[in-house]
Amino acid sequence: MLDTRGLVIGELAVRQKFLSRAQLDEVVALQQRNGFTQPLGALMLEKKLLSREQLDHLLREQKQAIADYERQLSVSGLFGRIAIDQGFLGEPQLAEAIRRQLARDAEGKHTKIGQILLQMRALTPAQFWTIIKSQGVFKCGACGHLLDQPRLENSAIHCEKCGKPALSLEEG
Ligand SMILES: [Zn+2]
Repeated sequence: MLDTRGLVIGELAVRQKFLSRAQLDEVVALQQRNGFTQPLGALMLEKKLLSREQLDHLLREQKQAIADYERQLSVSGLFGRIAIDQGFLGEPQLAEAIRRQLARDAEGKHTKIGQILLQMRALTPAQFWTIIKSQGVFKCGACGHLLDQPRLENSAIHCEKCGKPALSLEEG
């Protein structure tokens, strides 16, 4: 099972410079190899990447940040869960996408999980559209049209009304 709380704690630990991003990457890869059997926090303690005091500090001082991220990630988690249930995605890919989302957030660039998965090529635009349709509505950013049957290309989803890319895989 995906450990979103662990991912948030790991990200905050990197921001506090308790460990490096490379060290976090390693421990996340280890968690994945073990089949997500251990929470990331416990693994970081076991590998001595984090002391008990540092972990306690994060849980105490970053309570609000953790809660905010968990709320935000529950949306990402739902999108990801649908993708996994549809057989489009595996948990390691979703974990990676959530990590990228958290890292971008640290740079002040909030990006939706679906867009990150598209950029990773973990989802095709057609798969992305299948999930969006099952979740609700998606508006064209250019003309505001509610997309119903957009034109799906390799690099973008085009609005059926104005023809502009309603969602592009390019960074931006
Ligand atoms: Zn449009």
